[in-house]
Amino acid sequence: IGIAVPKEVDPGEPRVGATPDTVKKLIALGATVTVAAGAGLASGITDADYREAGATIAASNAEALHGAAIVLKVRRPAAEELGAYPAGALVLAIMDPYGQQEALEVVARTGVAAFAMELMPRITRAQVMDVLSSQANLAGYRAVIDASAEFGRAFPMMMTAAGTVPAAKVFVMGAGVAGLQAIATARRLGAIVTATDVRPAAKEQVASLGAKFVAVEDEEFRQAETAAGYAKPMSAEYQAKQAALVAEHIKKQDVVITTALIPGRPAPHLVSSAMVESLKPGSVLVDLAVERGGNVEGAKAGEVVTTANGVKIIGHLNVPGRLAASASSLYARNLLAFVETLVDRKEKVLAPNWDDELVKATLLTRDGAIVHPMFQLPVG
Ligand code: NAD
Repeated sequence: IGIAVPKEVDPGEPRVGATPDTVKKLIALGATVTVAAGAGLASGITDADYREAGATIAASNAEALHGAAIVLKVRRPAAEELGAYPAGALVLAIMDPYGQQEALEVVARTGVAAFAMELMPRITRAQVMDVLSSQANLAGYRAVIDASAEFGRAFPMMMTAAGTVPAAKVFVMGAGVAGLQAIATARRLGAIVTATDVRPAAKEQVASLGAKFVAVEDEEFRQAETAAGYAKPMSAEYQAKQAALVAEHIKKQDVVITTALIPGRPAPHLVSSAMVESLKPGSVLVDLAVERGGNVEGAKAGEVVTTANGVKIIGHLNVPGRLAASASSLYARNLLAFVETLVDRKEKVLAPNWDDELVKATLLTRDGAIVHPMFQLPVG
């Protein structure tokens, strides 16, 4: 089983799909692993580290991909890269499939079997393969670190001979994986933390981390979680009630971290310009949803914006990539766990079970066509 680990082509992507640790485990499964030169460097992994783990280093992506049966990627391969991908290869990546019909067609035409790791079902067996969770957890942590770096005040209360510095007030909007880690991180730094979400299950989780839950808890709130554990889009009525509550609460906050997402849809707008204006000068917002349209009005992807009233809005792209070494180490483990389900360990051959629910949920393209029901164009 030939496994290729290309270097990511996107300059904004420092992560890599395998680490020396996972290379060893892939080899133990009966694979040979070829890593493109420099693929791990931005994650702190040298070619020598990979070689020591048993991988072969290829001079280029094209050379690494030659004859590969499995390709371990971070991002969906771009059209320019796909020429080097062997037809029939299994390509594992964060495929970002929503609203990308043309790009998916291009991937399909190369004949690869492309798996979207972010569509992994949230069932116990697949927890170890859950790239959304592994990466969101790091993003939530990093959001607080980024906020603290831009905030001109300390997070903890400090009582000194020269006087007392008050604790920062941090408000986390969206208490999923990223939000819960943001709450925990802000608490560790000594902030006073409040949080909101539309899913009732979040209430207890927020409280267990020592933060106060603030939300409109009406009948719609009680129904807001899908069977898959994600949030539903909320009605205009709910959003208006939520906005009124948030408007009152937010103006007393120093730091606001937004993480709210709805799978396959634009991120919900939660913080209006008026709310941003109600914040004190020096306050900081971090919009972790900026790549999906943003939760905060005025947030700009890839920028730190300072508003006229002196509020900073942080819109960093690829926040997990800002902790590339940690992100790669967890992401590579996620991929390894999925690869383990695709091989026959006894015979040491590739043996994907096309009827496995994990395969069905994640497989986007195969044999030249888009096969995932969510991304097939309606006939006619
Ligand atoms: P996500 O990234 O899709 O969204 C982030 C959060 O934003 C969610 O908590 C969501 O409810 C919230 N949100 C959406 N719209 C909102 C709005 N209008 N206002 C406020 N908040 C809003 O979600 P996620 O972090 O991937 O996780 C969702 C849930 O799934 C969490 O409870 C998580 O613990 C759970 N989960 C379960 C498993 C499993 O294997 N069982 C694995 C991972 C996560």
